[in-house]
Amino acid sequence: MSAVAPRALRLLARLLEAPIGRMAQAWVEDDDQAALKALVDAGAMKSCADVVPVMCPGCERHEVAPQKEGKSLRALCPECGYVPIANDSIQVAVPNVEWLLMRMRQALGMDARQDSQLLVENVLWKIGDRPEGKTRRRRFLFARRLTDATTHKAILAALGDRVERDNGIIVGTAPAQHYPFSHLSLTYVHITELFRWRAGKLELDDELLAWCLKPAHLRSHLRSAIFDEAFRTAIIDGEEFHFSATQAQFWVQLHGLGGAKAHKSTLMAYTKSDQVGPRELFRHNAEQMRAYERLVEHDDEGFYWMKPA
Ligand SMILES: [Zn+2]
Repeated sequence: MSAVAPRALRLLARLLEAPIGRMAQAWVEDDDQAALKALVDAGAMKSCADVVPVMCPGCERHEVAPQKEGKSLRALCPECGYVPIANDSIQVAVPNVEWLLMRMRQALGMDARQDSQLLVENVLWKIGDRPEGKTRRRRFLFARRLTDATTHKAILAALGDRVERDNGIIVGTAPAQHYPFSHLSLTYVHITELFRWRAGKLELDDELLAWCLKPAHLRSHLRSAIFDEAFRTAIIDGEEFHFSATQAQFWVQLHGLGGAKAHKSTLMAYTKSDQVGPRELFRHNAEQMRAYERLVEHDDEGFYWMKPA
């Protein structure tokens, strides 16, 4: 139980982000086999009727299409001629996007009659509209393969055409620092931050959602018992600490999570820092590092949150 749940959603995100139609089950590491089984059992993966292209096992240079030959498989490679394909090297299951959209709608508490909508083939969907208060609705989108620049033009056109830019949230499978549309006022959030895997369903992280829903300019004006001067200073156990503008940006993000966890790639993207992680932002100054260690908690998977005061 312990390790599978967090792994399952991360594995699903990785598989969704992989080049479409090219992941073999053999790509899934041993550590993730239990997570893969959980995904298959829950319906998050579906078997693929078509035999999809694989890398030629002879030269490993050409993509070849396996064909059935009696009980076994073979493929024609332009260099090697006919090569046998191991049955277990072809994918048996692909991520089931319909399942995922349905579970996200459920977790977000959207009307069961509402359907998600394809906006750009294979990469962009509208999950649905979520009522906010009595009159407002918030649009949620789902995007995969944002790391693939060839789809950006189509995505941008769809966003411009159909989405009120200042009102939407994009849930994606790409790390936040690879989110290419930060000039638009959509909020990007990684799927493993907003949702948790629980018993084959998705569960919403309410605090992270609250953070997403807050307009960016309000996120940076949150009141804090510890921080002052727009997060440039902090009083911790009576001791005063001073921070750089970039460090203050990091505190804004972390504090704004309200105790929820966010992945370091998201935090660093919103901090607008080139550092690889939060620690690197602070380690050059012993005093600042001390404050960091007093206030920041993280896990092995790269998720960060604020220590309870
Ligand atoms: Zn070959």
